Amino acid sequence: MRRISHFISGVITSDTRSKIGPVFNPATGAQIAEVEMASSHTVAQAVESASTAFSSWSEVPASARARIMFRFKDLLERRADDFAKMVSLEHGKTLDDARGEIVRGMEVIEFACGIPHLMKGEFSDQVGRGIDTFSKRHAVGVCAGITPFNFPIMVPLWMLPIAIVCGNTFVLKPSEKDPSASLMLAELLMEAGLPAGVLNVVNGGREAVDDLLLHPNVAAISFVGSTIVGEHIYKTAAAHGKRVQALCGAKNHMVVMPDADLDQTVDALVGAAYGSAGERCMAISVAVAVGDVGDELIRRLSPRVRSLKIGAGCNPDTEMGPLVTQEHRAKVLSYIAKGVEEGAELVVDGRRASLCDIDTGFYVGASLFDNVAPSMCIYKDEIFGPVLAIVRVPSLGAAIELINLHEYGNGASIFTSSGDAARAFDHQVSTGMVGINVPIPVPVAFHSFGGWKRSAFGDRNVYGPEGVGFYTRLKTTTSRWSSGTRVSGLAMPTLG
Ligand code: NAD
Repeated sequence: MRRISHFISGVITSDTRSKIGPVFNPATGAQIAEVEMASSHTVAQAVESASTAFSSWSEVPASARARIMFRFKDLLERRADDFAKMVSLEHGKTLDDARGEIVRGMEVIEFACGIPHLMKGEFSDQVGRGIDTFSKRHAVGVCAGITPFNFPIMVPLWMLPIAIVCGNTFVLKPSEKDPSASLMLAELLMEAGLPAGVLNVVNGGREAVDDLLLHPNVAAISFVGSTIVGEHIYKTAAAHGKRVQALCGAKNHMVVMPDADLDQTVDALVGAAYGSAGERCMAISVAVAVGDVGDELIRRLSPRVRSLKIGAGCNPDTEMGPLVTQEHRAKVLSYIAKGVEEGAELVVDGRRASLCDIDTGFYVGASLFDNVAPSMCIYKDEIFGPVLAIVRVPSLGAAIELINLHEYGNGASIFTSSGDAARAFDHQVSTGMVGINVPIPVPVAFHSFGGWKRSAFGDRNVYGPEGVGFYTRLKTTTSRWSSGTRVSGLAMPTLG
């Protein structure tokens, strides 16, 4: 059985004290590897390595740090197929989808290559007579990233390229469900010239995370995952004096207006609801049909949902792969049963999908509910599977009110041909990201990603300018040389 260890001080490091967890191929249900769950000793070793590396790495000029990222991006581009195969194997998503997440991750590396410009400070000449003020950004120290299973490459790349080019060192704790890609990224960064200790990877679960949250030498925590865990991380890390950005769960709505182009809308909805088997934090899990558009939407949508090709992610014909684990499959199936119990109309029942030759994998067919009410669990909870709920409302105002009352506020989109409706929606909706005729509005790398309400804790979004802000701290200096005005007396100096 392949054993997946840790990556500390530039080498794969095994720990005999580690407990072991299983890694599955979700397409077959077979265990394909075992992953070491870091003990406190391993986490301490990783943080120690990162702390030691920080003193020299933070002194490397930003342009030299950026050059390593240029090489890293080039190497990743060349090996993208190997990475995509590993992601598909351990996660279950299709190869095309895995390649897509690699490209989105590479875009953040490209952004990080501009760090000399991004870290440029500000200078104010003559704020008082002979006195100047300037501000610059410094690295914060050892940063830790705790990432979810659903984007084993893209989400670590939301964090570590920016943290590292800002002069920090990093300890990554990826999901124990698909841990191999993180080790591959660490090895590639070493090949690109990153000094040992600047990036360390510890595998594991809650215990490893708690060790990172409590460690006095960890200055910043970036988390992406579920809301229940994110809230714990935010509170614990903040209570221990760390800065935290925690991006969490979601229930993303797509509003369909009666004037929407329905061909475009249905295409977008199928991809956004069922791509990656719904295991995306920006997946559309609720379509809000406004006015009388609901019947036509269902008429066009249901045959598309029924005919989705389900199978192993490595099969080029597959449109939708399995879910990540057997437990997660059971959870999604229980939500479908619950939706029926609650009285929603199950238009397409994914439990009946023809999955004959793939019985042992963690598959659930695409499912579609109509007439879902806001009081139902299938509306309120994040299911994180291929289950789309249609809610019918009389007006755009009612659609916006519905979205704004939901506890999550990650993304929302509207499909319409009316500029007025689109603008009103954008202005009034309480989510961190908005799409106008774009179903999954994940911002490009030079903007920043983050939700509102219980979809995020902390006040800095990830990547883009917000990411640079999160991974740096500001120092502002006021300077006077001997020819400047002298301040005397005990009154507050005003520098006039
Ligand atoms: P998860 O919260 O179970 O796990 C995320 C990370 O936290 C993993 O590394 C895991 O090992 C660790 N962890 C799990 N339980 C823990 C605990 N009790 N204490 C400390 N650490 C713990 O999430 P997941 O199932 O891997 O990922 C799916 C979730 O992630 C969904 O809710 C999804 O919406 C969310 N997500 C959000 C975004 C976003 O940007 N908002 C992006 C991707 C995924």
